[in-house]
Amino acid sequence: MDFPEKKLGFGLMRLPKKDDRILLDETIELVDEFMASGFTYFDTAYVYAGSEEIMKKAITERYPRDRFTAASKMAPWKLSSSFSALDMFNESLERTGLEYFDYYLLHNLQDTHLAQCGKYGCWDVVHELKAEGKIRHLGFSFHGDPPLLRRILEEHDEVEFIQLQVNYLDMDSPFVRADENLRIAKEFGKPVIVMEPVKGGLLSSVSSTLLPPGVSAPDLALRYAASLDGVKVVLSGMSNLEQVKENIKTFSSAQVLTDEDMKAIEAIRKFYREGSMIQCTACRYCTSGCPKHIDIPLVFRAVNDLRAIGEHGRPRNYYLDLVEAGRIGRASECIKCRKCEAACPQHLPITDLLKECSAILDDGAKA
Ligand code: SF4
Ligand code: SF4
Repeated sequence: MDFPEKKLGFGLMRLPKKDDRILLDETIELVDEFMASGFTYFDTAYVYAGSEEIMKKAITERYPRDRFTAASKMAPWKLSSSFSALDMFNESLERTGLEYFDYYLLHNLQDTHLAQCGKYGCWDVVHELKAEGKIRHLGFSFHGDPPLLRRILEEHDEVEFIQLQVNYLDMDSPFVRADENLRIAKEFGKPVIVMEPVKGGLLSSVSSTLLPPGVSAPDLALRYAASLDGVKVVLSGMSNLEQVKENIKTFSSAQVLTDEDMKAIEAIRKFYREGSMIQCTACRYCTSGCPKHIDIPLVFRAVNDLRAIGEHGRPRNYYLDLVEAGRIGRASECIKCRKCEAACPQHLPITDLLKECSAILDDGAKA
């Protein structure tokens, strides 16, 4: 199957926002910069709030269809007896203004979502849509463990590609096992689209003291992902023009790693493991179900910032301001219902982590 010549893909899940609304003019600026440099791949999903609609306004209505490639995803966990897989697909087409998707994925296949796919006939629906030409290439995104990946591929040879979480920190992580998942994809002959190459921004904020001279943190992480065997597209959830320009620069020459780069990667891995950084990717899948409205990724980010750069006042004050304004719940208010843990693709022990974070953030007065 064909993939775009240039490997950088634009993930439309972290677009510029104000008051929770995606900003159209700013998004258009990013899209135009990306397209002007010859990049074509855009990735959205039914569950990325406002993202499919912005794709319509910023891309579909402004560029000829053969100038870009569009990917979206079906969320099996949102289906019900009154909202079918076909309803969801058609809604995605309507929101994006497209007549077909170049790449269409079943989103985040894990045990419960696979069961939903079976219950609501997702596989049959996507096969029919592919036969009708409304899906050009069929795949799935995956954050689970290698045995499950193997099982899905054994049962679904028709899948053409896989979207995997891959970055240098997750290669041997017991929660992600990206290296094993990549090996399985290769064994089954499936090309890979990489998501989370900078681990939700965590690897973009690596201290310059750990990087080779002249190399930026995102550049190192993106080149690492792009250089791996079988990787055809690397998605980056870009939020501002500076990121777009920097990523374009990274992907405008060969994505190779030097010995110095590899030494830096080893040092960064050591730093993160020994520094007990919380491996949250800020995907926010955990937040909508929280009965106490705790902004879990924000809490984790605040504590990571404290641990990584030793910055005391700002992240903690920012968190406490939001709590005091009643906009988010306090970490200490967690009732351990564990709804968030069931939704977390990183399998983080969120309730235990929140307890740790609460001791750091909630106690004492603001700085
Ligand atoms: S376990 Fe705590 S943080 Fe998680 S959903 Fe329940 S109340 Fe919210
Ligand atoms: S805790 Fe898990 S689900 Fe929540 S934002 Fe972080 S990685 Fe995503």
